[in-house]
Amino acid sequence: MDIPLTPLDHKAFFNPIKELMRTIILVEMGRFTVQNVGFQPAYKRLANEALKGKADLAREMLKECTLCPRLCRVDRTAGETGYCGVEDRPFISSYGPHFGEERPLVGRGGSGTIFMGGCNLGCMFCQNWTISHGSHERDAHYINESELAGLMLGLERAGCHNINIVTPTHQMPMILGALSIAAQMGLGVPLVYNCGGYESLEALRLLEGVVDIYMPDLKYMDAEASGRLSDAPGYPEAAKAALREMHRQVGVLMTDERGVALMGMVVRHLVLPGGLSGTREAMRFLARELSPDTYVNVMDQYRPCYRAGEFPEINRRITGEEFQEALELARRAGLHRFA
Ligand code: SF4
Repeated sequence: MDIPLTPLDHKAFFNPIKELMRTIILVEMGRFTVQNVGFQPAYKRLANEALKGKADLAREMLKECTLCPRLCRVDRTAGETGYCGVEDRPFISSYGPHFGEERPLVGRGGSGTIFMGGCNLGCMFCQNWTISHGSHERDAHYINESELAGLMLGLERAGCHNINIVTPTHQMPMILGALSIAAQMGLGVPLVYNCGGYESLEALRLLEGVVDIYMPDLKYMDAEASGRLSDAPGYPEAAKAALREMHRQVGVLMTDERGVALMGMVVRHLVLPGGLSGTREAMRFLARELSPDTYVNVMDQYRPCYRAGEFPEINRRITGEEFQEALELARRAGLHRFA
């Protein structure tokens, strides 16, 4: 198309051309891509009062804690702690740009990762056990919500494409409180909720319109295995319900023109020795009950850590054949977007 260099009626030319360019870009970008220009994270589209209101409602849940399916019902605002062992203040281990996460999260600037201390799961093979189950004071420390907001803003200033909260479930109210402060101070990158999948629906519903990218694990599909190895016999049912809710809220993963994640869902599935992670059923669940377009990271990096030595069946790495079989099961289930 010839574009006049000196159009008499600027508007008449400019708008159709802009629309045409937009259409061309969208067609070229494909169906999992959206334009970065003008993109606003979900929490920025909420009025700050609404975000604060959600943080207040979440804080109420701490008074008789039902933030996760353990339903400890302890009063964390009165200094009590439940299974996760964490009070009602942000408890963090470390933070910084991370270049080892999934490619769409890392881009060129890295993922702005904040590792939270403590955990609501009890995995016998946890590779972060010093943070999750270790001596708390040595490996993590308490800060306040303003300080957590400052970390978020600092990571964005460092060029990170997102704020990636690792193991957020048991600290969700404090994260919302910090986010509302950071959003008012200009935070503008997507929020990643990088969790174990053992979530309560009540807590997740508060996150609707706040979280841009959910990144849950799908660890097990068998209650006996999840009970024995993660002290959570209810994990498969809780995780399936949680993943359905996350998918309802944010849909499949969408990236910008550069391939950087903006919204949607990434599911991690760590392949355990001897088929203990239930890969066949897990992949079928993702493809059939969420979408065949679900973005999945089938992970081969299992190694025996923490107390895995007490369980002979998980006291080894997985074989190359086991991993290839897991990938094949994912493809056969109909999935096609892999990390
Ligand atoms: S978040 Fe912690 S205290 Fe609350 S129910 Fe879960 S494990 Fe228990």
